[in-house]
Amino acid sequence: MKKQDIQKLYKKQKKLLLKYNHHYFNLDSPLVSDSKYDKVKNEVIELENSFTYLKDNKPIQDRVGAPVTKKFKKIKHAIPMLSLSNTFDAKGMNDFISKISNYLNIKNKNFNFSSELKIDGISASLTYENGILTKGLSRGDGSTGEDILENLKTITQIPKKLSDNKLPKLLEIRGEVYIGKRDFKKLNKNFANPRNAAGGSLRQKNPKETKKIPLKFFAYGFGIVDPMTYKTQSEFISKLKKWGFNVNPYNALVNGIEEIEKHHKNIESLRSSLDYDIDGIVFKVDDLNLQKRLGNTSNSPRWATAYKFSSEKAISKIKNIVIQVGRTGAITPVAKIEPVTVGGVVVSNATLHNEDEINRKDVRVGDTIIVQRAGDVIPQVVSVDVNKRKKNSKKYIFPDKCLCGSKIQKEFNLSTKKEDAVRRCTKGYDCSYIAIERLKHIVSKEAFNIDGLGKKVIDQFWKLKLIKNPSDIFELDFNKIIKLEGWGDLSVKNLKSAIEKAKNISLNRFIYSIGIRHIGQENAKILASFFKSVNQFSKMLEQTNKEELLDNLKDLDGIGETQIISLKNFFSNNKNVEIVKNLITKLNIQNFKEINIKGKLSKINVMFTGGFEKISRSEAKTLTENLGGKVLGTVSKKLNILVVGNSKPTKKKIDKAKELKIKIYSENEWYKFLNI
Ligand code: NAD
Repeated sequence: MKKQDIQKLYKKQKKLLLKYNHHYFNLDSPLVSDSKYDKVKNEVIELENSFTYLKDNKPIQDRVGAPVTKKFKKIKHAIPMLSLSNTFDAKGMNDFISKISNYLNIKNKNFNFSSELKIDGISASLTYENGILTKGLSRGDGSTGEDILENLKTITQIPKKLSDNKLPKLLEIRGEVYIGKRDFKKLNKNFANPRNAAGGSLRQKNPKETKKIPLKFFAYGFGIVDPMTYKTQSEFISKLKKWGFNVNPYNALVNGIEEIEKHHKNIESLRSSLDYDIDGIVFKVDDLNLQKRLGNTSNSPRWATAYKFSSEKAISKIKNIVIQVGRTGAITPVAKIEPVTVGGVVVSNATLHNEDEINRKDVRVGDTIIVQRAGDVIPQVVSVDVNKRKKNSKKYIFPDKCLCGSKIQKEFNLSTKKEDAVRRCTKGYDCSYIAIERLKHIVSKEAFNIDGLGKKVIDQFWKLKLIKNPSDIFELDFNKIIKLEGWGDLSVKNLKSAIEKAKNISLNRFIYSIGIRHIGQENAKILASFFKSVNQFSKMLEQTNKEELLDNLKDLDGIGETQIISLKNFFSNNKNVEIVKNLITKLNIQNFKEINIKGKLSKINVMFTGGFEKISRSEAKTLTENLGGKVLGTVSKKLNILVVGNSKPTKKKIDKAKELKIKIYSENEWYKFLNI
């Protein structure tokens, strides 16, 4: 890459990171997950280290937090409040210890470390002059903080006055403001995790607002202290306790990698049972004289490091196993776990997939487990620590009934020719758990896409009996809604117009929104291209035409036996029929618009059998459609060309095509015909 391009890329990525920082540190509302943030940050740092000319203007790796906003008065820290370097494994910890001994030129690596839980909150600095709290600052960008004294004073665990006759004249205490997990749960605000909630609450413009939130404080360090008479970090921590500060009870003194590892593992297994979030353990050289000699890099002290827990996995405990019912009736077992923050998000539910999976892993209530949340994937139970299992633990028995009380069963899967792993409730709309999930599907982005009518609102309206069936969405009683908490003139007006807009829907979206099992967006499009109008589609709702229509659907490529059976089951249910009929009367469903491509295959129906050598079946399908042709799924009189691939073609199809005198091409003949 040219220098110019590197500079351009660096500028772009740096700008992005600064934006992420502002949202995370100042607005307490992150734009991306921590792992995404860390990935971009590492890329930028790698650029800075590979091309040193990029470091000219305050490089990313030297920054702490984000520039302070105008919301509060700015005050310079007497001693910078830095971030922490971090490590994720024993090797990283070993390297950290080696670096210390190299820097100090001490061969013996037997350093004492003050081991302290890394509380995931917001750091604050408290200055006491002759024992009176006179200054309270946020970390800000490390060198300048925000004056948040009045807000900090609202926290009961922060002493306003210290009494001790040997108290330093000037004493700056540093620690973490946090919110307990239980309190976080009770907070009716939209924060992703307790850290964001603590930040948002602490930096309110009006301290009266801060006072309403049950913020807490753990003290763990110092800034300026005059006179400084303490010799070790652990000695200072015991003083903190004496002065009345809340000090974490798991602080310990450790020496050597073995003790560090043991301690780290032990705390990690305790993590989910604590009432506050921690994201690792901070190991600090205990000897304050050595700390002084080690000093700081541009953004973190050399004498401390955060040994973090994995950002994708965490240890927790199963409190209960419950079942959830999906819109297709699928029963999914879900583990209710002790809440634990994984990758910046509080996880309290983790999927166990299905009965077989529970049996395979022998997951039980009370088990200690590893939960994983990678990217946006639903959190899942990865493994069980059987050594931690109590003797009286009982095997989990999968329920044989749905939450609605009806029997659940496993179906025979036509494509795998085996019984499904998933159990299902077959009651459809008669099961209220399925009904509500179908409503959530109907309003979803890919279906009716109704702004302001998300899953939570559906839950609320369902409980209030404002919505029961899909058609109720289009006959909502807005006079009742406006009286509900959280709703006002504007939100009701917006909802009204979103619903009005949604009434105009294309046939394919409509078919998809009904939520028939095995009819996803692609298949809905195939069906819409077959039916063309809602009038034609409505014939599926009449018992007389249904069988014949279903038979015709077999010709469509993409619609197989599985889909036909599913459609048949859905439309054989009177309640489904009635619900779909009612819904249609409320809507203006637009005819399917065929994109007529004029090409070599216009008005030609093609079918493929057997695998090809040069291209995949999907590519062959797209190629045909791009040339104006249509791909069919069965051999009938409507078919014009059958293309036979070399790999396992179906003899029956070839014989039938011959019988009907349909043109048959080999793969190569087909390319020749298309001139490609
Ligand atoms: P950090 O949170 O990893 O560590 C430094 C902080 O640890 C200190 O400032 C202090 O507040 C705290 N701490 C807790 N207990 C402590 C103890 N016992 N002793 C000393 N300090 C203790 O670092 P950071 O610079 O505040 O933030 C970096 C983190 O924030 C990363 O994990 C990053 O992923 C995340 N982040 C995410 C986004 C996003 O958009 N998702 C944006 C910026 C940063």
